[in-house]
Amino acid sequence: MATLDEKLDRARVLVVGAGGLGSPVALYLAAAGVGTIGIVDDDVVDLSNLQRQIVHQTAEIGEPKVSSAARKLAALNHHVRVVPHRTRLGAENVLDLVRAYDLVVDGVDNFPTRYLLNDACVLSGVPLVEGGILRFRGMVMVVRPGVGPCYRCVFPEPPPAGAVPTCGQAGVLGAVAGIVGTLQAAEAVKLLAGQGKSLAGRILTVDSLAGEYRTVPWGRNPRCPVCGEAPTITRVREHALECAMRDAGPGAGRLSGSGPRTGPEVDRSRRREE
Ligand code: ZN
Repeated sequence: MATLDEKLDRARVLVVGAGGLGSPVALYLAAAGVGTIGIVDDDVVDLSNLQRQIVHQTAEIGEPKVSSAARKLAALNHHVRVVPHRTRLGAENVLDLVRAYDLVVDGVDNFPTRYLLNDACVLSGVPLVEGGILRFRGMVMVVRPGVGPCYRCVFPEPPPAGAVPTCGQAGVLGAVAGIVGTLQAAEAVKLLAGQGKSLAGRILTVDSLAGEYRTVPWGRNPRCPVCGEAPTITRVREHALECAMRDAGPGAGRLSGSGPRTGPEVDRSRRREE
């Protein structure tokens, strides 16, 4: 029987986004000894993001984020194989990327890509660790296709363009990205190890101002457009939305009952009694 180290060494994890969430996720996965870490990002290091994107440094401003991140992960653990994908995730490449890995961790900064990634993972049967942050709040959930709810079971459609402020507009506490990304890394390692109780079927919300962490049980939605009983989404497509909603997890405010109330409507019929 494989040891934990052997399981992690054989594992291939795709981290989508090398920003506020992707930074702690990638660092902890590399430190844990995950054998292959793919990183998708088409952006360059920017000074204004460094308060939360801790895998990058000021000397690397202007450098592609995937290059900066890959160098840091290799220095941290030279046993890890880092695969940089300097590309924008879209309907044309998402399935090939997702299917080349055992597990995907979502560190994206916009809703169109978040929904695209959810659909691609559900259609491909690849587990997905979701995370979202805005201001002082965050959320984490695990999508295990065929086992528990997907992101669309909770939030069937993206919010209208401009309905949720961007991190640039609303700000985000850098440490919240660290908290949520670290929780995502922990969930990823648990899934790869086959140990513990994952956040599949539960949504963990973080409110750093209140100092509160809550776990909300959530069931699958039989009317879910991608994993329900009569799915209407049978192939990946991109939502034609303005990418004006950066780093936001629409559930953070909704699920905690306060804060930003501008995310998509939650289908509360799917919320199970605690
Ligand atoms: Zn679903």
